[in-house]
Amino acid sequence: MTTIGVLALQGAVREHIRSIRACDAQAIEIKRKEQLAEIDGLILPGGESTTIRRLMDSYGFFTAIQDFARQGKPIFGTCAGMIIMAKLIQGQAKAHLGLIDMTVARNAFGRQVASFEAEINVAGIADDFRAVFIRAPYVVEVGDDVEILAAYKEHIVAVRQGPFIATAFHPELTDDHRLISYFMDMVAQAK
Ligand code: GLN
Repeated sequence: MTTIGVLALQGAVREHIRSIRACDAQAIEIKRKEQLAEIDGLILPGGESTTIRRLMDSYGFFTAIQDFARQGKPIFGTCAGMIIMAKLIQGQAKAHLGLIDMTVARNAFGRQVASFEAEINVAGIADDFRAVFIRAPYVVEVGDDVEILAAYKEHIVAVRQGPFIATAFHPELTDDHRLISYFMDMVAQAK
């Protein structure tokens, strides 16, 4: 059976656990870096990227997740998780894990429009996906090896590069599990 971990330092952890279980996979909350050895794929949830990064450093997750990624194990970042996976963050000197060759802008839809929902097309996954955006980032630039999976109002909001996938929105907040289940397929293939 496929086991998916959700980094449980801060943010929308329980919602991801619920949607993984709805897809009949095993889900565990990852609170210690040693638990990474028990999982086949990892989800970096939404929340506050600077807080998540600070906690990642405190608990030794930063290098542990880089090792996990180097083994080719799939990682899915949602919202703050997308920011954490980016190679560059607009207006910030330093990025975080740098796993996907993209530049992201934080709170890119404006702080005033804190959250909204939109029906978007996610290439090869769903042409009517109800995406929930919460103080969401978007992608301003991607490298040649990055596949663009979705855009909203001409802004890139979902990408994939090899075993790494990221969305600016929160696929775990609705009962539409098609994106999570796509990630499970990536994990099953990598395994
Ligand atoms: N704005 C948050 C950040 O910059 C991300 C918001 C979210 O994950 N819902 O980290």
